[in-house]
Amino acid sequence: MWRLRIFAFQFLRVMSERRVRVRFAPSPTGPLHMGGVRTALYNYLFAKKHGGDFLLRVEDTDQTRYVKGAEDYILEALKWCGINPDEGVGAGGDCGPYRQSERKEAGIYKEYAFKLVEDGFAYYAFDTSEDLTNMREMAEKAKMPNWQYNNITRTSMKNSVSLSEDEVTKRLDAGDPFVIRLKMPRNEEVRFHDEIRGWVIVNTNNMDDKVIYKADGMPTYHLANIIDDHLMNISHVIRGEEWLPSAPLHVLLYRYLGWEDTMPKFAHLSLILKPNGNGKLSKRDGDKGGFPVFPLEWNAPDGAISSGYKENGYFPEAFINMLAFLGWNPGTAQEIFSLRRINGSIYARKSW
Ligand code: GLU
Repeated sequence: MWRLRIFAFQFLRVMSERRVRVRFAPSPTGPLHMGGVRTALYNYLFAKKHGGDFLLRVEDTDQTRYVKGAEDYILEALKWCGINPDEGVGAGGDCGPYRQSERKEAGIYKEYAFKLVEDGFAYYAFDTSEDLTNMREMAEKAKMPNWQYNNITRTSMKNSVSLSEDEVTKRLDAGDPFVIRLKMPRNEEVRFHDEIRGWVIVNTNNMDDKVIYKADGMPTYHLANIIDDHLMNISHVIRGEEWLPSAPLHVLLYRYLGWEDTMPKFAHLSLILKPNGNGKLSKRDGDKGGFPVFPLEWNAPDGAISSGYKENGYFPEAFINMLAFLGWNPGTAQEIFSLRRINGSIYARKSW
């Protein structure tokens, strides 16, 4: 009888565990840096280890930074590395489309942005870019650099918190351009547990009222990223640590959208640094040190050519092996690993 009980308990535990679903979410703003490949690789290996899914989502909401050819380059580079998505751009799946510009066209983001306003977590802001520049200049003259649109300054700007209801309705009816900003609460602690860094605690007084929806009807990265991770049922967000400062804002978005219960776990990876450790490894460092920083050669739209590991004669297996060791070690003397071997031993699904 007790055996049956243990079996039932274990069965229920396994059934209630969340399927591991991770994503690599590059923006097509240029070629894929080897740091990006490493992030994709860690996501891929994590998914394979746990018998889960690795998704590829293209985050192209910022049309001003779009670079022609970058998306094709990213897809080709991942293919050369053998990091093939189970789902997403180039692979299909049930949660598509997987390109954010197409998701925007499908009307996926808009309702959430307006719901946040309706629920009092966000507001319309009508300030023009000249208004913002003036404000910054005035603050600088008053010896208050780094002016921010935040829970104090918002009261002196043109938005639905500071203006009367009539004025706001008038502006909306007249079709005045507006953005939607998140209404950062005053003096609240946002805390979350990062799987690599431990507890992260930030006071909202140090956070600004980020734009989450732009005047052209496009969501910004922050909003689109959270909505997509939620709708794609992502269990773990594994990304570079340059996104760590944005994570408290993301936690608040999950809370305000009512999705905190299924919020993914966060893991912010350290970056691949310059040889002197002073900042992120750049193409210039590669040129100086005589090594590529891109997997494949990149022919920029302006005609400039950057060298790639492939064209320099490296095998993708060697490139991947090198990247796996930048930030990880098996704790043994084994130095050579292959994706095939990892694929050949897909582990039973486990909780993490
Ligand atoms: N689109 C972001 C990037 O280019 C993705 C960040 C994330 O993984 O949340 O790095």
